Amino acid sequence: MAKKFYVTTPIYYPNDIPHVGHAYTTIVADVLSRWNKIRGKDVLFTTGVDDHGMKVLETAKENNLPPKEFVDKIVPRFKDAWEKLNIDYSRFIRTTDKDHKKIVQNILQKIYDKGEIYLGEYEGYYCVGCEAYLTEKELENGCCPIHKKKVKKLKEETYFFKIQNYKDRLLKLYEKGFILPKNKTSEMVHRVKELDRDLSISRTSFDWGIPVPFDKKHVTYVWFDALLNYYTSTQEKNRQDFWPCDLHIVAKDIFYFHAVMWPAILMAADLPVPKNLFVHGYWTFGKEKISKSRGKVINVDELIALTGNVDSVRYFLLRATPFGKDGDFSEKALVERHNNELADKLGNLVSRVSGLIEKEGCKQNRKWKTPFLTVNVKKDVGELMENFEFDKVLNRIFAYVDSLNKWVQDEKPWEIHEEDFKRAVLYNLKEGILLIAELLWPFIPESSEKITKQFSSKNIKKGEILFKKV
Ligand SMILES: [Zn+2]
Repeated sequence: MAKKFYVTTPIYYPNDIPHVGHAYTTIVADVLSRWNKIRGKDVLFTTGVDDHGMKVLETAKENNLPPKEFVDKIVPRFKDAWEKLNIDYSRFIRTTDKDHKKIVQNILQKIYDKGEIYLGEYEGYYCVGCEAYLTEKELENGCCPIHKKKVKKLKEETYFFKIQNYKDRLLKLYEKGFILPKNKTSEMVHRVKELDRDLSISRTSFDWGIPVPFDKKHVTYVWFDALLNYYTSTQEKNRQDFWPCDLHIVAKDIFYFHAVMWPAILMAADLPVPKNLFVHGYWTFGKEKISKSRGKVINVDELIALTGNVDSVRYFLLRATPFGKDGDFSEKALVERHNNELADKLGNLVSRVSGLIEKEGCKQNRKWKTPFLTVNVKKDVGELMENFEFDKVLNRIFAYVDSLNKWVQDEKPWEIHEEDFKRAVLYNLKEGILLIAELLWPFIPESSEKITKQFSSKNIKKGEILFKKV
């Protein structure tokens, strides 16, 4: 039986259209999904939207729509964006899906029956942007430090989850390397050690959410509900073996929820916890956080329109900045990489070699095995992928592209007189290009498939230009 690999993106808040930040996380998940597929694994890859919560409710109100109707209108934008970006997910989950509602209620009931949930009253500062209570200490001038907005003072009857009971187990989990990159661990160790309150997991001030099964006047707190989406998708027929999840990918604004709340909920429900959580950085725009409210969104259509090529977007986002670090988005840098790397290096190699083969033919001859076929590019790429060093992976593959270009330049196959040798040289170049296409497939699937098709043909011809310069 094939090994399994389960990767997730967060379920996004549909109060916004998909922008470069959403695209980045989703492309990374897609790259990992495709990478594991070519390594023969059975892959489950989920994404989706979070229908619930006060933030969606408020945005729906501003748009004069009931929340479900509002989200129904936004969902196609996400699906459309992922289709345009060639995201090959297994399930697009929404928290209003029937199976999800059932899972959330079952888990709540189970934890309640164990005595880990109790009724109380909460008074505190709520940030709608975070969908979380903040402590006085966390506020900056009465505002949420992330959203820079005034918090609401709320007081309500609520159910609490005894999250403090799980502090030791959480710390042990971190010790085992749950959090990636590893240097992000200490921040959560600190926060868990400081944890001195239980978690409020229900609301009575509004009814947009999943009803609490043991007290119908409460709805489930949006994060308790949303996090369970990852589990729901594995409870479909023939998918149970995908739990526990191999990798959750999140941006750092939702790190805490995934590192603390989520494993604690699973521990309370006696379910295995995910293997890893990867926390990546933000994309900024002119060094400022991308946000719709501040007019700095670059949406998926705008991204693709910069070069007219989806693969350039996928390539740029993974190549430009190390995964885990913040990156500053620049239209100019994207166009430059498209022109200098994809068009001039890869596109040129493909066009030149296919043109030569069309004219001269190519044939394997073991007598003239050329040195570039013996390099360890495949092994290097494998190791770097294991460490999520996507920028280095692409760098490594493009160093190989460079070496092939240089080889063409130095050997000048068109000047070789001996026919057998000339064809052997071209054959080896063809094999090199096929290897490049294979290694690049998770990153730039559309172009890689074109190259593979072109160079696997019995009759190799110079095709159309892969990357038109901008
Ligand atoms: Zn906030």
